[in-house]
Amino acid sequence: MIGKIVTLAKWKFVVGGIVLLLLAAGATHKISKARCFQLVGEAICRVETDRKIVALTFDDGPTPEGVDAVLPVLEEFGVQATFFLIGNRLERFPGQAERLLEAGHELGNHTYSHERNLFRSQDFYRSEVREADRLLREAGASTDLFRPPFGKRLIGLPLEVEDAGYRTIMWDVEDRPEDFTDPALFAQDIIDRVEPGSIILMHPMYRHNDTARAALPIVLRELQARGYEIVPVGELLRAGEMVAER
Ligand SMILES: [Zn+2]
Repeated sequence: MIGKIVTLAKWKFVVGGIVLLLLAAGATHKISKARCFQLVGEAICRVETDRKIVALTFDDGPTPEGVDAVLPVLEEFGVQATFFLIGNRLERFPGQAERLLEAGHELGNHTYSHERNLFRSQDFYRSEVREADRLLREAGASTDLFRPPFGKRLIGLPLEVEDAGYRTIMWDVEDRPEDFTDPALFAQDIIDRVEPGSIILMHPMYRHNDTARAALPIVLRELQARGYEIVPVGELLRAGEMVAER
């Protein structure tokens, strides 16, 4: 009888442990994706301002076809934006970052490889941040803006980001290509969620991003019609109070 009770207690302990582990895994997953909060340092997801001003950011690349698609549209609307670029794409497509800089856009660090970055070694995080930093500098950019791939990070990556003198820039409005394939609806979904101080994230760089490319002029036209000034992230951060938690 006593043996049975002990066994039962043991099982309760094991089951309790598993439940706790699952809860912890869920919490870790949630924290790793949080927009305005991170465990180390600050993650900026928008700014607090009464002005109708928003930042436009593009992730990934650069690719020649992505830059070809986006540059003329931004020029047509007189808009400057922030491009978070990947180190190994900078190596693969030399000259693209320079084109963006020449057109007056701002560049940011989006790691060297864009690999998933949870539970990796500190050396991995360090080289992801530093190698991309080196390539951006070689292209002529000086930037302190960093965006984690997939928006994911826990502790190791933010430590290296801070150590390298970068700030983590998240977003509060992202494009949702999985929900909208029609450019007008895709654009409207973004426009509907924009507020003064928003940081918008779009992905126009790769071939499968046709909808984002087609939606870009609609987003710009509508936001300007609503009186929004569209600027790079650095300028938005100077225009309002940064929101790192909400
Ligand atoms: Zn990315």
